Amino acid sequence: KIAVLNDEIHLEERTREHPCFGPGACRNARVHLPIAPRCNIQCNYCVRKFDCCNESRPGVTSKVLSANEAFEQYIELKKHLKNLKVVGIAGPGDALANFEETKKTLKLIRMYDPEVTFCISTNGLMLPFYARELVELGVTHFTVTVNAVDVEIGAKIYKHINYFGKLYSGREAATILMANQLAGLKLLKEYEVVTKINCVALKGINDHHIPDVIKKVKDLGIYMSNIMPHIPVVGSVFEYLDTLKSEDIDELRNVCEIDLKQMRHCRQCRADAVGTLDNDLSLSEIYRQCSTKC
Ligand code: SF4
Ligand code: SF4
Repeated sequence: KIAVLNDEIHLEERTREHPCFGPGACRNARVHLPIAPRCNIQCNYCVRKFDCCNESRPGVTSKVLSANEAFEQYIELKKHLKNLKVVGIAGPGDALANFEETKKTLKLIRMYDPEVTFCISTNGLMLPFYARELVELGVTHFTVTVNAVDVEIGAKIYKHINYFGKLYSGREAATILMANQLAGLKLLKEYEVVTKINCVALKGINDHHIPDVIKKVKDLGIYMSNIMPHIPVVGSVFEYLDTLKSEDIDELRNVCEIDLKQMRHCRQCRADAVGTLDNDLSLSEIYRQCSTKC
């Protein structure tokens, strides 16, 4: 067990203060530092864009930053956002497919700020290999996107994975990815960090299967699940797939709540989101607001 994590009170406090994990923490801000451009899998609902300002959804950022740039940005943000509690790495690709940048960013920020909470989002493919190092770097909150625990369904969702330089597709890709997600979740449980599962609900593809996903992961110490509607993206395989109505998503959450706590306030934020969940701001906007207030 990793000693730094055993301060349970501290961990509970971090969870309470985290705007995504603690539903009462809406006044606290988080920043997503977009230092992870590459992804090691291809989901059929995803198209990543690095220069898009007018879309608000995961995988979108105005700019990709280097670790040094992200650090400089963090220092500036700390001066302006007094309620900043969480640094997240949520793409625009996968944090663990860009592990060196992720690691460097976390190290730089931790040297400067021993208090801020670190939060990582990942598809989980490389989680068994990097979980320990991330926890040792001080990551206490994880989000792993698990859309299926059935190979046939997984094969419909994931176009391919790139695993140690080799491309796998179809059932083979889904088998490797799902095995690593579950192995990674087991490790996170062992390390006693706080883990959330994201599930993208795809109409007619995995929506009927999501309660099985939740049942499968619930014994792995998962704190809660975040079932979110698919946002159709131009150019993706699921571009023309109908989205589930909000009532259908709510119903799914109600069913799954029997097994696991449900997140109901996710905003499906950009990879460079800054601010509170209800008031995402660009950096220039943050600096402007601050200078007019001061
Ligand atoms: Fe896109 Fe995330 Fe899927 Fe990678 S894991 S393809 S970034 S949705
Ligand atoms: Fe929180 Fe959802 Fe935004 Fe992630 S996408 S930061 S879980 S509100």
